[in-house]
Amino acid sequence: MNDIRLRRPSAVRSLSVGELRVSYVPDGAMLLKPDGCLPAAADRIRAVHGAYLNDTRRLVANTGGLLVEHGARALLIDAGYGPHALPEDPDHPYSGAVHGGGLPGSLALVGRSPRTIETVAFTHLHPDHIGWARAEPPLFTRATFVVPKAEWDHRGPGTWPIEAKVRLVLPGEEVFPGVHALALPGHTAGHTGFVIASGPTRLLAFGDALITPLQVSHPDWSPVPDDDPGQSARHRRRLLAELERSGTLGFGIHFADVVFGRVRRTAQGLAWLPV
Ligand SMILES: [Zn+2]
Repeated sequence: MNDIRLRRPSAVRSLSVGELRVSYVPDGAMLLKPDGCLPAAADRIRAVHGAYLNDTRRLVANTGGLLVEHGARALLIDAGYGPHALPEDPDHPYSGAVHGGGLPGSLALVGRSPRTIETVAFTHLHPDHIGWARAEPPLFTRATFVVPKAEWDHRGPGTWPIEAKVRLVLPGEEVFPGVHALALPGHTAGHTGFVIASGPTRLLAFGDALITPLQVSHPDWSPVPDDDPGQSARHRRRLLAELERSGTLGFGIHFADVVFGRVRRTAQGLAWLPV
């Protein structure tokens, strides 16, 4: 693999999961300060994993969504940062510069009008995942917003200043044909992944349970933004065991230009192999 993919944002990428077409649709990018985000690992990252750092010594995370299409029907998982940009704040503990704005153009590139998206499902309600769902005028004029119930109970009503059709879902519930909710708490109380399955293949969209491929090899590296680092590490290990199973692909929205991949065991331990 070309190392540069570890430190640049992803363009649109698509693949097939059985009868489903899935596409990463970028909105923008967010830079993360290794010292603030992964303080216990920052020295090791600089010494051993410098390929993950850009020219300003930041980890590169995408903002965007995962479009899941079945014929004319469409689901979007997460809705980017929205039409905003913030420069780096030297006082922010872990976040560097962040910008969105590209999601409508990315949807256009894959030929999908936001009006035809029937469901927008959220892994959790952090600003880099709900941006376009709060836009005025609304972008998703016909969509139902699917929110994990535990996430809604924890932070939903106060942080959702729009009128929207909201459906609350429990772990295991189907949110779109072939797509089921998978509880992955720790990053937030109700943080949830989605299992996208069709035929013999399945894709696990795991949200912020893993924010960098480095955590595949180091599942105990819980980033500072995790509300409960112990819980997130436990569920990260459980998730990695699922990702190791045959016929399973993963989708990491924040994984720079290696958003789709497989987890495989190597002589050095688990590794993320981009596809
Ligand atoms: Zn995030």
